[in-house]
Amino acid sequence: MSSHSVRVRFAPSPTGPLHLGGIRTALYNYLFSKKHGGTFILRIEDTDQKRFVENSESYILETLKWCQIEPDEGVGYGGPYSPYYQSQRMDIYRMYINKLLKKGYVYYAFDTDQDIDKKRKEYSNRDLTFSYNSRNRMYMNNSLTMTKEQLHDKLQSDSYVIRFKIEPGEKLKIYDIIRGNIIVDTDHLDDKILLKSDGLATYHLAHTIDDHLMKITHVIRGEEWLPSTSLHVLLYRALGWTTPNFAHLPLILRNNGKGKISKRNTNNLNFPIYPIQWKIPKTQILIPGYRELGYLPEAFVNMLALLGWNPGVKKEIFSLQELIHLFSLEKIKKSGVYFDIKKTNWFNKKHLKKEDIFAFLFREVKKRSILYKKKDYLWKVIYLTMDRIHFIHEIWEHSSYFFVSPNSYEDNFFNKICHENTIIELENAKILLYNINSFSSVNLTCFFQKKKNKHKIMQLFRLALVGSLKGIDIFIIFEMLGKEESLLRIEKLINRIKEKI
Ligand code: GLU
Repeated sequence: MSSHSVRVRFAPSPTGPLHLGGIRTALYNYLFSKKHGGTFILRIEDTDQKRFVENSESYILETLKWCQIEPDEGVGYGGPYSPYYQSQRMDIYRMYINKLLKKGYVYYAFDTDQDIDKKRKEYSNRDLTFSYNSRNRMYMNNSLTMTKEQLHDKLQSDSYVIRFKIEPGEKLKIYDIIRGNIIVDTDHLDDKILLKSDGLATYHLAHTIDDHLMKITHVIRGEEWLPSTSLHVLLYRALGWTTPNFAHLPLILRNNGKGKISKRNTNNLNFPIYPIQWKIPKTQILIPGYRELGYLPEAFVNMLALLGWNPGVKKEIFSLQELIHLFSLEKIKKSGVYFDIKKTNWFNKKHLKKEDIFAFLFREVKKRSILYKKKDYLWKVIYLTMDRIHFIHEIWEHSSYFFVSPNSYEDNFFNKICHENTIIELENAKILLYNINSFSSVNLTCFFQKKKNKHKIMQLFRLALVGSLKGIDIFIIFEMLGKEESLLRIEKLINRIKEKI
């Protein structure tokens, strides 16, 4: 196959927001298509009207945009194989189901839900599981067990579904790029419904036809679809089509060992599950996503790419272009992968850009009308504090003391030092500092190194300059603030202590 013909699709159902697994599927499809100069298609699989959730589609489009992995073709982008909504392709599915009917690959079934429920109960009473399969279908109410006349009458009066007729006794070979050869015994398959009683095709039928007509070369999707793949392969065969290549992606697991992450399993997770914010339609409650929490799309995509795929190099930080370059389906892991929020934060830290932090800090400073600070000073602050932050918005929290004198002091420590002695110590220190000519961090470090009680006095300085016991090297803070401002802050602390005692 020439590499130019690669065509892959991301085919979500509009049943709610995408979660980590969903967006990772989209990403792998995107990376694979770009690597091979192929086409990435977005198809909306809306055959199950009962599970439809409004705004899912716009959510999906916005997420792909945010991640910068936009489709080349499909919903929202157009293309030569439209419509890309399955709900608008029902006539096509009908046409093919008629072909399958004529060839005897499928059959009408008239069993009501109650009939099937009854069977299920009967079986479960005997500790068995009922399945509508080659062994049982001859005892059911379907076109295989009635005459042509009976069928004709039934079709006039009753609603029906159409089921795929599995031929037992075959060891079906499936090849999956990630998992290799898989052998499925068709004796274990059941006769899945292809057309529902409302006349709509099910996912199994619809996506098989679409993948063929849209010339999809590689089906890259979640592992949960692996068990249905045998049916899909049989469907391709019945329709006389060649199967696409399959690659089933490993599940993303919750790190508490409580199973997989899915749309229906988002409670009690201690990390965000959605790429961008989602407003729950019924309650209008907004759930923030990675975007709103301050993650950069580059970091999010980098993290997701490595969640189940091994780039085969030591490096971990990649741009989208590098990911495309290195991507290969063969290096995707077979077993489930654990999501790690700490690692995700680390990815974000690694993708932070100084220019963006600068812009943020500049806005914060401006907002507070701290106009006297030069750009140079801001840059210095960024270099000094950058390694302490994982998110751009954390920069102010970690650097505000370079711009504003503390208005309050960390309670615990303040209460501990709130006595006459501290005032004397601080007054003495003030005199020492006042007399130091070169107020550089190197000079100050040398000077205080020799002092007795140095640990205590440095803590006091920190409280005075920062307001808490946090922050970078205290002598660098001194140098940055300058003698005048530093002494003012010490004076302020002295006054506070005086007020308190
Ligand atoms: N509509 C299916 C889903 O949302 C897609 C399965 C597939 O990619 O074949 O999971």
